[in-house]
Amino acid sequence: GKMGVGPSSQEEASRIWTELAQKNPTVDDILGEYELEGSPYDAPISRATQQILISLDDPQDILARAVRERQTFTVTNEEALVISPALWGALGTHHFVVTPLVARNRSIGVIVADNLYSGAPITEDSVNLLTAFAGHAAVALENAELYGRLEHLNSQLAEKIQELERTQGELVLSERLAAIGEMSARIAHEIRNPLATVGGFARSVLKKPEPGRVETACNIIVEEVERLEGLLNNTLNFARPTQPRLQEVSLPELLHETHRMLASDLQNQQIVYRQHIVDGLPDIHLDVDQVKQVLINLLKNAIQAMPSGGNLQVAARLVPSPAWAANGSGEFVAIEIQDTGVGIEPEHMNQLFNPFFTTKTYGTGLGLVISKKIVEDHRGMLTLESQPGEGTTVRILLPVQPVSSEG
Ligand code: ADP
Ligand code: MG
Repeated sequence: GKMGVGPSSQEEASRIWTELAQKNPTVDDILGEYELEGSPYDAPISRATQQILISLDDPQDILARAVRERQTFTVTNEEALVISPALWGALGTHHFVVTPLVARNRSIGVIVADNLYSGAPITEDSVNLLTAFAGHAAVALENAELYGRLEHLNSQLAEKIQELERTQGELVLSERLAAIGEMSARIAHEIRNPLATVGGFARSVLKKPEPGRVETACNIIVEEVERLEGLLNNTLNFARPTQPRLQEVSLPELLHETHRMLASDLQNQQIVYRQHIVDGLPDIHLDVDQVKQVLINLLKNAIQAMPSGGNLQVAARLVPSPAWAANGSGEFVAIEIQDTGVGIEPEHMNQLFNPFFTTKTYGTGLGLVISKKIVEDHRGMLTLESQPGEGTTVRILLPVQPVSSEG
């Protein structure tokens, strides 16, 4: 039971009927007064109604049947057996009408109406009136429920929108912070190598200012400063993707130069350096500054992996166009940098190309990311193999003559 309407005693009934006869109110007047008296669910008759609990499966109960069969029943004393004790307790009569509330072909409840206090007979007219009323009531109830559900969904939606706006704001902020962090780490990383070279040569010249040494050192310093200038320009163009500025380069010369730049590191760490470049390798089209940076990154990683010495081998040869390359890519050069260092743990392998992944105290974790990006900008490929405790091989494939994607 949900709600009861009407007097709960003979006295209340008499009072109400006298009042109605004097005031002759409209339905609106009655409803207005009803609202003033507090929630209709708290009225004594509602309380009694709320005690009624009937199983819809009950084969006999007249209320359950009205719901199931969607039919109106007029109950008289002879049918008293079909009334549950709870209903009998609430009504106090065996004389009433029960009519289902049917909305969109579905029973959503029943109305039970009695004539206990009036004692007037239940006429066919009043039953018809009740049935018609029940039809409207059912639709109104259904609409009220739908409206309630809609309101609930609406407020949920408003909440979700608010939440979304908040997280979006946070996201934009954290993305911006991440971009700034990545950019400053990248700048620091790219500047570190040339700056160290310039400092090293300048200090060594100061120590022993012999003419031949001064000239070599100054040449290197000038080159490195030019590289720094290039880096600075690149950084200023950070937002725009940097297209490699291709020029024909002799790979042996490039490798010779990177070797010379790292010679003191190799010597300090007692690393044996070997170089195998096949004869007759054609000049390659590449951006010298960028590829030099790749080679230095990779060679430095190899050197750092061999703190107590080892072998470092750099090999270069021509290979046919790999399957993944664009049509008409022509020949590729394969450059392999192989060390006998500490190697890479298998669980680190798939993190190597994540920005900032490093196992070193002073690492930036950007060397491999930047190198891979540069190689791919050249339409090449960078791969890495490693055996923990035995060493690592990094392989770069670069097209001799990159074809642009436009054909
Ligand atoms: P960083 O050198 O600053 O750590 P990198 O991107 O160059 O950043 O390298 C990422 C990580 O990959 C290194 O910290 C190291 O763990 C691993 N790694 C890269 N190259 C080698 C190598 N030749 N031998 C062993 N580990 C390597
Ligand atoms: Mg590195």
